[in-house]
Amino acid sequence: MRERLPSVRSSSTRLMFLVLSVMLISAVALCVLAWRLSVLDRAVAQQRDRERLEHAADSGSGALLQQLNETGERLRTVLDADGARRMASLHALADRCSSCGGLMIEPGRVTLIPSRRLRYVPEAPVPATVDDAVFSGGETLEFHRQDYAAAARWFLDLANRSHGVIRAGALIRAARNFTKQKDTGAALAAWSDVERLEVEVDGEPSTLVARFARLPLLGERAKQNEARLLMTDLESGRWPLSRTAYRYHSAELSKLTGIQANPPVWEEAAGSIVEFATREHIASGERVIEAGPSMPMLVIWRTRGETIAAMAFAPADIRKWLASVPGFAFGLETLDQQKLLPVPDGNPRTDRVLSFANAHWRLTAGPAGPGGEPRSRQALLLTGLSLVIVLVLTGSYAVVRAVSRELAVARLQADFVSAVSHEFRSPLTTLRSMCEMLERGRVPGEDRKQRYYSLMSRETERLHRLIEDLLDFGRMEVGKKQYEMHPIEISTLVPQAIAEFSEESAACGFEILIRDMMPCTVVGDSGALRRAVRNLLDNAVKYSAASQMVNVGVRVDGGNVQISVQDYGMGISHADLKRIFRKFERGSAARASRIQGTGLGLAMVNGIARAHGGSVRVESEENRGSTFTLVIPGADAKREQLAWHAS
Ligand code: ADP
Repeated sequence: MRERLPSVRSSSTRLMFLVLSVMLISAVALCVLAWRLSVLDRAVAQQRDRERLEHAADSGSGALLQQLNETGERLRTVLDADGARRMASLHALADRCSSCGGLMIEPGRVTLIPSRRLRYVPEAPVPATVDDAVFSGGETLEFHRQDYAAAARWFLDLANRSHGVIRAGALIRAARNFTKQKDTGAALAAWSDVERLEVEVDGEPSTLVARFARLPLLGERAKQNEARLLMTDLESGRWPLSRTAYRYHSAELSKLTGIQANPPVWEEAAGSIVEFATREHIASGERVIEAGPSMPMLVIWRTRGETIAAMAFAPADIRKWLASVPGFAFGLETLDQQKLLPVPDGNPRTDRVLSFANAHWRLTAGPAGPGGEPRSRQALLLTGLSLVIVLVLTGSYAVVRAVSRELAVARLQADFVSAVSHEFRSPLTTLRSMCEMLERGRVPGEDRKQRYYSLMSRETERLHRLIEDLLDFGRMEVGKKQYEMHPIEISTLVPQAIAEFSEESAACGFEILIRDMMPCTVVGDSGALRRAVRNLLDNAVKYSAASQMVNVGVRVDGGNVQISVQDYGMGISHADLKRIFRKFERGSAARASRIQGTGLGLAMVNGIARAHGGSVRVESEENRGSTFTLVIPGADAKREQLAWHAS
């Protein structure tokens, strides 16, 4: 009975288990490490973000207060200069920002930088007073007697005799009476005269008064055109109106034309500054004013004598001051929620409370966008760790494969050693016992002795063949096997090989039948080819449990000689078919049935077939039998092959 070396399987299982455990533990340890590292990294990143945010809030507050101080100082420098230099230095100050403006307010004059005309001024000129008694004659005719024709004539007469404000007043009243009389032509002519006068009527330019009053007298189309022209003049700051006059005319013209005027931001800024500086007597300061709906402006002013130098900043300018702290967004609102800059979205955020512009302001700092850097670092970390894990797993797989291959080779070699020992042991045991019996003269009769001698000769022959097989296989493996190639008649070689083998097979009750035998010749080594056929016959007998029949056939197909050996034995499983031609490999059924073998027979057949430029084929079905076919190029095909190679 052949036994496998016991330590190989158990040590191989142990080794595999050890390798797998080490790999598994390292993979799990790496995963845990990856997770811990990522958590730790996130915590560190969050802490760093918070610190940077706190620092940004401090820097933002500093930048804001510094800009306020600096602007105040520069306004003082502006006021220190005189004449043209004063305007030049205000220009220099206003040029430093994009949405801001400089204001120089002197009695009766407001200069804006960048230059633009105000639509209304903080302190409109006081209207010249006219003694209404000059118009009393006409007004008696108009209001008491309701004699509009007489009143109109009376006022026209007064206008012809007067100048300036009185002439304007008389013409306006005449136009009013013509209108009441429904004499549109005369009314329009009177208004045209008023327009040309260019005097102030109740603090408003006569031109504006006349053009505005004439509108209801015009046809629809002319009225629209004239209203648009009048609005353009009003918006261009052509007349230095009072705030009330501007607002009234602007609102009426907007109603007529449907056009919305731009919010009077600069007019409101100038008005507020004059209000604070002259009416509230605050010589220097800063305030946030609402220059229009949702249009906050930060105004900073300084006063010298009756001159005020000021700067007005839009929220965009303040955002630019804070842009000196990159990567963060800032919100700025008073504690009672008057907004200058909207509070940024997102988290985390932090606040600082600042006092300026007569209020307490909350400066809120937050991240400008999604935290790209830490997130990308996290991704990098995770990618790196995943890569390491993949490497460990791939390495593990490679190690496991290599180890299992080594173990398989070790197992095959152990099997081989045990099989070879057994193959040697059985003939040797027979020989030893026979020699002993002969030596002690325990074999009676010449006949029996003769049988013993021939048995001993067969066993010696078997041992010889086994040793030759092993030596030949060794030579094949190192490529040193010498083949002596001669033309061989296969129809002679195959029966010879069968005859040599038949003695042993017949002893086991086997019958080897030659089914086909086509005459054919190959160029080959007869010894090697006989060994190949013998190995196939040996296997057919060995693996043919109950059925004791083996068929042999020789055919020629397409120039190739096919020597087939067919049995009706246990067959070969599909999985085994792929590997039985490898050295030391044995089929699972053969091993399970404890049939002796070294796993070298088919490897040798394959080696011999290849050395002859041929191959071995197998067709098999489990429990139905197998057919092995040795395919060798025929002598003619071989000659053609050689000729083709030579050409
Ligand atoms: P050995 O016969 O010494 O095991 P071989 O190389 O000759 O080695 O054969 C390899 C394996 O192929 C065998 O172990 C057996 O499983 C299978 N085998 C070969 N010939 C046959 C056959 N005729 N019928 C069934 N199985 C076979």
